[in-house]
Amino acid sequence: MDSTPAAPFDLLIENVLVITGEPGAAPIHGGRIAVRGDRLALVDTADGAPPLAREIVDGRGLLAIPGLINIHTHSVLSLMRGVAEDMGFAPAYTPGVPQGHAIAAGDAVALARLGALESLKFGTTLINDMYVHVEETLPAMADLGLRVSASDRLHDVDFTRVQQGQWEYDPNIGRRSLDAALALAERFHGSHDGRVSVALGPHAPDTCSRDFLTEIRAARDATGLVVSTHLSQSRLEVELIARRDGMTPTELLDDVGLLDDRLIAAHCIMMNDTDIARAGAAGITVAHVPKGNAGGGMMAPTRRLREAGANLALATDNLLGDMIEAMRWALCIGRLQAGGVAPDWQPEDVFAMATLNGARALRLDEDIGSLVPGKKADIVLVDIDRPSFVPLLDPLGNLVHCGQGSHVRHVFIDGIARVRDGRAVGIDEESICRQAQRAAETIWQQAAA
Ligand SMILES: [Zn+2]
Repeated sequence: MDSTPAAPFDLLIENVLVITGEPGAAPIHGGRIAVRGDRLALVDTADGAPPLAREIVDGRGLLAIPGLINIHTHSVLSLMRGVAEDMGFAPAYTPGVPQGHAIAAGDAVALARLGALESLKFGTTLINDMYVHVEETLPAMADLGLRVSASDRLHDVDFTRVQQGQWEYDPNIGRRSLDAALALAERFHGSHDGRVSVALGPHAPDTCSRDFLTEIRAARDATGLVVSTHLSQSRLEVELIARRDGMTPTELLDDVGLLDDRLIAAHCIMMNDTDIARAGAAGITVAHVPKGNAGGGMMAPTRRLREAGANLALATDNLLGDMIEAMRWALCIGRLQAGGVAPDWQPEDVFAMATLNGARALRLDEDIGSLVPGKKADIVLVDIDRPSFVPLLDPLGNLVHCGQGSHVRHVFIDGIARVRDGRAVGIDEESICRQAQRAAETIWQQAAA
């Protein structure tokens, strides 16, 4: 409880159903959430007269959850939606689709703002984003109020040749991209009232040579930044690393010293038994992209990775940024692996993957990931006054099985309203959509030419 209950709060949400996201905590019916400054002051059951607050939100018909965390995405690649899902396993390797090195900064910013807007409206309060022109897309996204962890796409492969099936490594390309990443960290890590952090983002084992990965490990040791990458995403990657380095991609990252609890590795699909044991023992975070992978006909061995010790966190990897949908897919994919309903693969497990586990991956779990007094006030209010939430017997069950990102009604980040009644606050949504449409048309036309 707060030590100075007489002091007014900045925000009070009354009569609200709360899922705190703390492991094992029961939902709080008729609860209240009070915020002072940027932090949660009370999360409990209403008790006596309501405390004073500058703003009071009537929480009846609303479900409060912690802000959702999308642990791996590329906002700019929203430009691929509706198309790339049906073409190849990842845009960077797919002939005929636009490539990062050819995208102009202004177009990247327009699309990044679209991705950030969509995240906010879907109740995602933190994204871990990686792509190009980050020095411009990162502030553009953070300026919309979102919490952002971002990394430059680090590689020493010549990306202009990868689509033609040629992997040629150039130390100068690597040096330039690592210098830019370190400058990015210098400039933005901790900026925007602490909402922004910077990670190091080696694109993938096959687009970074062994020497370059070793350089990135040294940079990580010197800076203490987390590392965000793609790992064991495709058979192509596994075969290339076997030829190039005589090992699996997981062994390679282990060999260069990157396989540890500061690593966020997206996909982890093509792993053998040894890889799974190694990744689990190292305590890596697996950025699990259940819907994206299933769309490509694949699934990561998530249950085995978790049993081995890996931290599973959820991601949408651009395209549709709905983290509630991602939870549902993760639940179903895990059950396909188990061949049935298992007691250890329940709504609370996938909810943790979309909240606390993502916070843990970014070393932010002391501050975000659950609704607990003292943590940052990242609160999402979901409209449950709708037929698909009736009957409301197990709120988390309803959310994971029947909820959608579009059911999000209000979003607070650091206690500041960023979405109210489903609309982004102080943001011209139509203009963002228009500019993103124009940018995408330009980029696709250039790719076709
Ligand atoms: Zn990705």
